[in-house]
Amino acid sequence: MGKVILVLSDALRDDVAKAHMGYLEHLVEVGQATRYTCIAEMPTMSRPNYETVHTGVPCSVHGVTSNFQVRTSYMPNVFSQARAHGKVTAASAYYWFSELYNAAPYDIVMHREVDDPALNIQHGRFYYYDGGDGTGYPDVDVFAAGGMLMARYSPDYLLIHPMMNDALGEKFGADSVAYRRNVIAQDVMLANLIPQAVALGYTVMVTGDHGMCDDPSTHGGSTPAVRNVPMVIVPPDGNGQGDTFAQISQLQVAPTVCTLLGIPVPDTMKSSPLAL
Ligand SMILES: [Zn+2]
Repeated sequence: MGKVILVLSDALRDDVAKAHMGYLEHLVEVGQATRYTCIAEMPTMSRPNYETVHTGVPCSVHGVTSNFQVRTSYMPNVFSQARAHGKVTAASAYYWFSELYNAAPYDIVMHREVDDPALNIQHGRFYYYDGGDGTGYPDVDVFAAGGMLMARYSPDYLLIHPMMNDALGEKFGADSVAYRRNVIAQDVMLANLIPQAVALGYTVMVTGDHGMCDDPSTHGGSTPAVRNVPMVIVPPDGNGQGDTFAQISQLQVAPTVCTLLGIPVPDTMKSSPLAL
C-alpha cells in the first residue's frame, strides 16, 4: 500500500523527453527509476486519453471519443476507486478533469478550488485558461499547486497535469526550440518535486496523454510521434529497474496506480498492472 503522484504532462513526446529531461534520465541511469515507452491509445487526443489513463479502457469502451464529449465518466476510475476505498484524492489539473470526475459542465468560479470528501477529486485546483496560441496557464503554477496539495493534504493519489507542452507544440510543433525548452523546464520542476515526494513515501509516475508531431497543431493519429510517450516511475525506496527499453500500454496505467495504492483493481480494467 502506497501513495502515488501521477504527473500527466500534456503532449509530452517520448523521444523529446528522453533527449532533454536530464534529471529524469539521471534517475533512470543510476537505477533509481524505471523507464518504459508507453503506447498511447487512439485518438491521440486529450480528453479521450485523460479518461483512458484513469479508467484503463479505450475510447470505444469509455465513450469519451473526442474532446467535445463534455460529461462525467461512466466508468470505474482511479479517483472513484480510491475514494471508495477510503483514500484521499487530489489534482492540480486542467478543468476537463473536473468535468470527467467531479461535475460537468465546469463552473469557472465555483469549481476552480474544491475541498470536499464527497467528490471523486476531493482536493481539486483546476485551471481554465489554455491559451491556444502558444500561451497557457503556466506549468510552474500547476506544479506549485500540486506541491501545495501534497504538503497540505497528503493525498494518497495526486494528479499533476501541466499543459504548456501542448500549447507550445500546437503553435510551433515538437521540433521547435520553444517545445524543447518547455520540456526541459518541466524536468527542472520535477527535479524539485521528486526528492520531496519520495521522501514522503510517494511513487512518482511521469507520462503523457499523447505526443506531438513536428508540424504545429498535429496530434490525434497513429504515428510514433503522437503514440509514444514516456513512462518513468520513481519508487520511494530508490530501487528502480533503469531503462527497460520495453513498450507498455496506456491501458496499464490505471491498474498499476490501483495496485500501488493497495486498492482492488476494478473488473473493467483488464490490462495487467506493471511489475514494479
Ligand atoms: Zn493532451
